Amino acid sequence: MVQRPASVLKELVENSIDAGATQVEIILTDAGRTLLEVIDNGRGMSETDARMAFERHATSKIRDAIDLFNLHTMGFRGEALPSIVAVSQVELRTRTADAELGTLLVMAGSEVESQQPVQCPVGTNISVKNLFFNTPARRRFLKSNTTELRNLLTEFHRIVLVNPQVSFTLTSDGQRLYQLPEATTKQRIDAVFSTASKHNFARQLLTVETQTPLVNIRGYVCRPEMAQKTAQQYFFVNGRYMRHPYFHKAVMTAYEGMLAHDVNPHYFIYFDIDPSSIDVNIHPTKTEIHFADEQTIWPLLLAAVKEAIGKFAAVSRIDFDQDDAVQIPVATHEELERVRAPQVSFDPSYNPFSNPAGRAHAAASTTQWERLYEGLTDRQRPEAAQSKLFTEQAVQAGVQAAADADGDLFQICRRYILTNSHSGVMLIDQRRAHVRILFDQYMRQLSSQPAATQQLLFPELWQVGVSQQPLMESLLPQLQSLGFMLQPREAGQYEVTGVPAELSESPIAALEDILSAVSEQTDAALDSRQERMAASLATSAAIRVGQRLSVDEMRRLVERLFACPMHAVDPSGHPVIALVDETQISNLFS
Ligand code: ADP
Ligand code: MG
Repeated sequence: MVQRPASVLKELVENSIDAGATQVEIILTDAGRTLLEVIDNGRGMSETDARMAFERHATSKIRDAIDLFNLHTMGFRGEALPSIVAVSQVELRTRTADAELGTLLVMAGSEVESQQPVQCPVGTNISVKNLFFNTPARRRFLKSNTTELRNLLTEFHRIVLVNPQVSFTLTSDGQRLYQLPEATTKQRIDAVFSTASKHNFARQLLTVETQTPLVNIRGYVCRPEMAQKTAQQYFFVNGRYMRHPYFHKAVMTAYEGMLAHDVNPHYFIYFDIDPSSIDVNIHPTKTEIHFADEQTIWPLLLAAVKEAIGKFAAVSRIDFDQDDAVQIPVATHEELERVRAPQVSFDPSYNPFSNPAGRAHAAASTTQWERLYEGLTDRQRPEAAQSKLFTEQAVQAGVQAAADADGDLFQICRRYILTNSHSGVMLIDQRRAHVRILFDQYMRQLSSQPAATQQLLFPELWQVGVSQQPLMESLLPQLQSLGFMLQPREAGQYEVTGVPAELSESPIAALEDILSAVSEQTDAALDSRQERMAASLATSAAIRVGQRLSVDEMRRLVERLFACPMHAVDPSGHPVIALVDETQISNLFS
């Protein structure tokens, strides 16, 4: 029954949480095979309870036997501790708040070796030593420490992500791997997955939230650009981790057409549902769970995730850091209501994204611009967008939409493009718009579409610093994809013979920016090296604030912007578009 250290960890920590612990400390030696210790500040056990806990069929919480969901890995309730002590040496120290002294139980292979009073804090400290000491065949079945530790951490993540109110520490071979204070769900996700290279992981996640009489779905999904080869993907139901391939498809469908090749979105999705409508028995060991209403929940989940992504794409109100530029007001709440998909109502056959008639506010008064804005969800429909950040069809759609907009375009303050919108005016930041356009273009080039190069009449010599040289060598192929032509000369010198077509500033300054963007990882919103390169070059090549634009230039910029799936924000998450409504305008006159 006990398969590996990770299953022991799961049982022990779940017991701690069941016992009301607010602090859980985990100590591992040799990936749990020599020692797996869990210390909690829960309610502890009396002497009798402690003895009973290790006897088969001794327990347990039959008081809430209705909560069948608690039947999990070990198959039966109250089987975990007996199964563990059957294959290991266990030391238990435990005390309840009303007892002066606690109990120390020493056991090995189901035999009690000693029992005595002991001084110890309230709570439970259980050490599982020498796992499988009496079953060599099973001991040999264990994998390398690396693999077993990975399994342990996987289990640990599944537990801590759904118990943010409990603080955890995890130490492995004397090294403190995790120290997780009590937190909100989002903070917990951040604490678990932010690393030196990827700080503020959770800050970039989008909120998912849907409440229906059948099920509540809440959680976080990632921006399409944040998707990675190995993604963190979690479903939880009623406070427990589950696998659910069918619901996984719903999430993936929501991202269809928006992900670069080969990457997967991160998601953390928590379901709350009446326990009697789920069946945990289909797979006692595999954490798979059957929902009675899977068919109904599927479109709800799909719509909720789409809504999260769509809101991000269509709306500039995002809690990213603002850069130092003067901010134009972002859209009001009502505007947001108008541009995003309608709320999901509880109707199993209702899918807001495949039902144009159901789209909110498609009133006669809607201007071309509004339609253009709403068209976002159309372009994100799976059948419309085949792949990647940007597709031919998307370009066409953008061109078409922008051409339909008969709107006059004005440049104001030499940095914003102004046009009419249904309920006021729309402002587009010209530089950020261009950065977004170029970023998408460079990301395409980096995934192997050839770039346009502009030959330099007078090649420039570039001396790369010694410490940067290995990095530079590794970046050569990507720099070529971006449109740089570089001939290596001796001793870290390169001759720059060609540059990306749209680059007007000094190529060497642009190259140096790329090198430092890659090595310093300054922007937390950008995950991969490719993203950092693309963003850096886009920043170098994009038109500047202050640059005058002709009407034609503005129109082309707007067309290209609206062909970008993520046109409302620049690659770092700053707003590109803002809506100022009539109320805000009239307030200026009050
Ligand atoms: P179950 O959790 O299904 O009841 P276990 O074998 O995991 O079965 O645990 C047996 C019993 O031992 C529990 O019901 C609980 O009363 C007690 N117990 C186990 N771990 C703890 C703990 N950390 N703190 C307090 N009581 C515990
Ligand atoms: Mg248990």
